Amino acid sequence: MNIKKSTISVRSGLNSDEQHGCVVPPITLSTTYNFFGLNQPRPYDYSRRKNPTRDVAQQTLSDLEYGKSAIMTSSGMSAIYLICSALLEPNDLLIAPYDCYGGTYRLLDALNKKGACKVLFIDQSDTQVLLKSLAYKPKLIFIETPSNPMLRIVDIHTLCNFQKDILYVVDNTFMTPVFQNPLILGADLVVHSCSKYLNGHSDLIAGVVISKDTHISEKLTWWGNTLGITGSAFDSYQLLRGMRTLMPRVYQQQNNTKNIIAFCQKQPQINALYYPGLPTHPGYNIVCKQQSGFGSIFSFELKGAKNVLLQFLRSLKLFTLAESFGGVESLIAHPATMTHAAMPENARKRAGISDMLLRVSVGLEDSDDLITDLEQAFASIQ
Ligand SMILES: *Cc1c(COP(=O)(O)O)cnc(C)c1O
Repeated sequence: MNIKKSTISVRSGLNSDEQHGCVVPPITLSTTYNFFGLNQPRPYDYSRRKNPTRDVAQQTLSDLEYGKSAIMTSSGMSAIYLICSALLEPNDLLIAPYDCYGGTYRLLDALNKKGACKVLFIDQSDTQVLLKSLAYKPKLIFIETPSNPMLRIVDIHTLCNFQKDILYVVDNTFMTPVFQNPLILGADLVVHSCSKYLNGHSDLIAGVVISKDTHISEKLTWWGNTLGITGSAFDSYQLLRGMRTLMPRVYQQQNNTKNIIAFCQKQPQINALYYPGLPTHPGYNIVCKQQSGFGSIFSFELKGAKNVLLQFLRSLKLFTLAESFGGVESLIAHPATMTHAAMPENARKRAGISDMLLRVSVGLEDSDDLITDLEQAFASIQ
């Protein structure tokens, strides 16, 4: 049976408890498990290596991305670190987008400086630059699409088919497995920050690496246990609970976004509006090919100077000024001083992140209320 994603996320692990017949898989907090006898271990011996609750969460994540296996980690960052530790040697080159997530930029830059691996940041949407970088024989190409916060798009299928002997890794946090499945488009690995849409309630930090190759997945599993960065039982349980409603959440958030974008298009105080669902977006054709939705994150540049930005943010009552995205509540962030503050100023400028840029994560409030809030904030800067 070809089970659909809603069914996977709702039913994963249900009715697996044989002791009490629990419908919802119970949380297993024990760190250790007794042996049947000397030299007779059970499948579980110590929870850093393997835990029943984490196993259910991993199975769900793997199924949602059409992978073979998933390793849940303590954060999105540790998921990316796991990939680098397990699969790269000091002379191996990793190519990443210059406008990747700020934390990823910081990690890769630090690993490069320390000599753990070599890293080259490039504009992956520029085919000439990309082809030139292939001459350096990269071991791994890290892809993030849509990018954060400019929502630039790269063609996953085309990129992953440039050259066969390279590992292609896609950070799919923005789109979620609901709207984009990189493994099907040709990627070798998918990474997520589960702290965003997958959990969806802004109350846990976790990550995951999903793979379609048994050999790679064994390496990742070994390193995950060795580094001790596997996800906790509590986080696994909470993540599973969040993922049960993943589908209706992301669709409703997308509907809200559609209404808000229509409103924003009419705002004279907006200089530029970035949303992959706009036919004027430069990546729109690729978006329609590789995504089955446009998501609920957009960014825009306000006209004017800093005082306008401050007044606008001060006026908002429903949108919370905060980092992160993908939760049920609407958030607004100022990338230059918040999410991308770790990025050096010249790198930020190169990525097109101006000081007047705001990024919005649309939540599950009523979109009429969200629009009314934006309306009065725009009125305050007129
Ligand atoms: C948040 C995020 C990360 C890092 O994940 P954490 O769970 O915060 O460690 C990585 N990539 C993207 C695209 C993100 O949005």
